[in-house]
Amino acid sequence: MQQFFKDISQIKGITCRENVPLAPLTTMKVGGKARCFITPSTIGALERVLRFLHRHQISFKVLGNGSNLIVEDEGVGVVLSLSLLKGIYRSKCDSVYVEAGCSLPGFLKWCIKNGYTGLESLVGIPGSLGGAISMNAGANDVSIGNFVKELCITTADGSYWLKADENTFHYRAGSIPPGGLVSAVRFRIRKEGEAQCVQKGIVAADALVPSHGSLVRDNIRQAMKKRLSTQPLGQASAGCIFKNPLPECSAWSLIASCGLQGFRMRDAQVSPKHANFIVNLGQASSHDVLSLIGLIKKRVWENTGVVLKEEVVVWRHEEEFWQK
Ligand SMILES: Cc1cc2nc3c(=O)[nH]c(=O)nc-3n(C[C@H](O)[C@H](O)[C@H](O)COP(=O)(O)OP(=O)(O)OC[C@H]3O[C@@H](n4cnc5c(N)ncnc54)[C@H](O)[C@@H]3O)c2cc1C
Repeated sequence: MQQFFKDISQIKGITCRENVPLAPLTTMKVGGKARCFITPSTIGALERVLRFLHRHQISFKVLGNGSNLIVEDEGVGVVLSLSLLKGIYRSKCDSVYVEAGCSLPGFLKWCIKNGYTGLESLVGIPGSLGGAISMNAGANDVSIGNFVKELCITTADGSYWLKADENTFHYRAGSIPPGGLVSAVRFRIRKEGEAQCVQKGIVAADALVPSHGSLVRDNIRQAMKKRLSTQPLGQASAGCIFKNPLPECSAWSLIASCGLQGFRMRDAQVSPKHANFIVNLGQASSHDVLSLIGLIKKRVWENTGVVLKEEVVVWRHEEEFWQK
């Protein structure tokens, strides 16, 4: 492992740290350390890291803002953080280029400043752009994937642009080619007078549309008010734990119907405010949260016959990195 650190630290444009605690880098505030934590400062440096890891057959994980993530207490191996890649550049014609490490709240601020409407429902989602694309984050019938023109995919062989089509995004999932990660996104911007996309007689929100910053800000305030009234935003959580089994069947209503709202396993609690959130009351471990997830699934299955599927991503312990 020491040789590995020595070699990887030679790569230009990156910082590399050992044994970095991941709990503070996630919104759930649980989990162990990353044996090796790498932060590239440019997409070129990211390509060099991926090439190095590929050559040495070392697997890696990508961290966004850690807002949909539960890391096991015993820790994981190599983690790449794109937090330094956060540029936003408006192209001359019909798109805006955003790097994957830009935060969603940061991009919404840009939309207010530059007067673009479309993504306001996503206010309060504390993710990075890369994480939002990977999860196809959404709220109130607006999903980020609908607005994407193309994705910059970075792999060990370099970076390329992937045009988004109807197969790229699904409910809370983006199809990212294996071995690659999202390093940047181009969002569509509708030019004035351009026809809107109509699906089944409904105008589909599929592009940012020029508007007034003050209107965009008002929409954001409204959406945030709604979110504050329904979600435990002041507490540590990873957002919704489970996917909704069907559009008309929400996970929270199934969990609430089992009488689990407020149920606790040590400091991990089913939120009394929103039954599909687990909150960390202070000292919860990843083990507590994962045990509570298992219990919820079991109860919901026994009482309703529905198998809940996790929306949150769980990073399992990678023992091999901790033996060397
Ligand atoms: C209070 C709260 C409210 C929330 N509300 C919503 C909501 O309304 N709707 C919703 O959809 N979600 C919601 N979430 C969940 C979460 O914020 C989103 O899923 C968010 O998009 C995750 O982004 P992230 O950067 O935090 O990803 P992370 O949690 O860091 O990672 C999630 C997954 O994405 C992968 N990933 C991250 N970056 C990249 C990349 N660049 N390339 C490839 N893969 C990558 C990671 O490897 C991991 O598998 C909420 C969470 C919280 C805490």
